[in-house]
Amino acid sequence: EDAAHAAASLADAGAPTIFDKIIRKEIPSTVVYEDEKVLAFRDINPQAPVHIVLIPKVRDGLTQLSKADERHKDILGHLLCMTAVIAKQEGIEDGYRVVINNGPSACQSVYHLHLHIIGGRQLKWPPG
Ligand code: ADP
Repeated sequence: EDAAHAAASLADAGAPTIFDKIIRKEIPSTVVYEDEKVLAFRDINPQAPVHIVLIPKVRDGLTQLSKADERHKDILGHLLCMTAVIAKQEGIEDGYRVVINNGPSACQSVYHLHLHIIGGRQLKWPPG
């Protein structure tokens, strides 16, 4: 079993992720937006001049998008609405990409739902 599938198996077991430590400020991150429900911080391995990770503070079973159900509607809506606010704050309204990697085949490595907000350069399509 490769690393990507191992991470997915851990997620099914409900294992905590590095994002829990970021939320609790036990490991440092550069926070760009925070409210009672979500946290946004700069990606440690940026793929563009602006690369932000936006997460719900409470995972509530939302290890990945494919686990979403009715109870997650509010937080999913809030994440998208705050994406627009953060993009404006970052000055990338001219064009940016919002990515959710779901599962091993999409190279998801952290099993706590998160949105990548990527911009600040001309992005190519299709992605890899
Ligand atoms: P991938 O690792 O393939 O990009 P994900 O969609 O699961 O898959 O993204 C997790 C993201 O979290 C990565 O872009 C990674 O760089 C970022 N990340 C991991 N640890 C940290 C950290 N301590 N601080 C900031 N970003 C982090």
